Amino acid sequence: MVKISKREVKGIITKSNIPGVDYVINPYIGCFHGCIYCYAEFMIRFSGHKGEKWGDFLDIKKFDLSQIKPQKYNHNSILFSSVTDPYLSLEKKVENTHQILEKLLGTQAKITILTKSKFVTRDIALFTQFSNIEVGVSISTLDDDFAKLIEPRASSPTSRVLALKEIHNAGIPTYTFISPIFPGVTDFKTIIDATKYFTDRYMFENLNFRPHNTSRILNLISEIYPHLKLLYSELKTDNSYWTHLEAEIIQHCSRENLKYQIAFHHGGFSKS
Ligand code: SF4
Repeated sequence: MVKISKREVKGIITKSNIPGVDYVINPYIGCFHGCIYCYAEFMIRFSGHKGEKWGDFLDIKKFDLSQIKPQKYNHNSILFSSVTDPYLSLEKKVENTHQILEKLLGTQAKITILTKSKFVTRDIALFTQFSNIEVGVSISTLDDDFAKLIEPRASSPTSRVLALKEIHNAGIPTYTFISPIFPGVTDFKTIIDATKYFTDRYMFENLNFRPHNTSRILNLISEIYPHLKLLYSELKTDNSYWTHLEAEIIQHCSRENLKYQIAFHHGGFSKS
């Protein structure tokens, strides 16, 4: 059972230290989706929920919407969202993301939306009113059954792909974030084939292991794909899988004439 609360915050648009992103907007504290690899769990430390489990709480941020000045962000980039999903199922009722977007209308900032929710299509009419916006979905696999294991409460990859198509058909620039890439499981070429007619650019990110997610990932792989156990244990000391994959992605995207960006970091394992 997720504990849902309201939280007053002073500001909703915060400076970002993500490369290429000037500001981030996280309309919620916490996230329902329950991704086993989640990199946002470190936020527990800063969320006032120390000791609780990520996914067991969600704070709806409350703020003075009149403080949002669209022109202040002209020529900057704003990402929705970095440590939550802006289109959690609760957004249907609460409309935090929707209200912030409405207040930003008129900005010349580059707005980037990233989600794992098919519900993002609700805001298509709003997206079309921005001069510089792109909307993306992240997809790790097209296998809805495997996705249910790694992202249990997110929309299925099949429905994310359909949402992306609908957004593209409305004339909105789109991107597919192929992330995280699970070695031996994620088939990036199949994902490209399923999305390339309605994706303007691709991003790729490797699976990153953190102390909090490593055993969850390794246990699942051992159970579902025991033949991959050795590969996953080798990843701890050997980056060559990622090096080869990166070369393969470059070759494939060049051959297909696709716009792409590769964000492989840390060689996979990190202590923090
Ligand atoms: S959608 Fe993002 S923030 Fe939410 S659980 Fe998944 S990885 Fe974490």
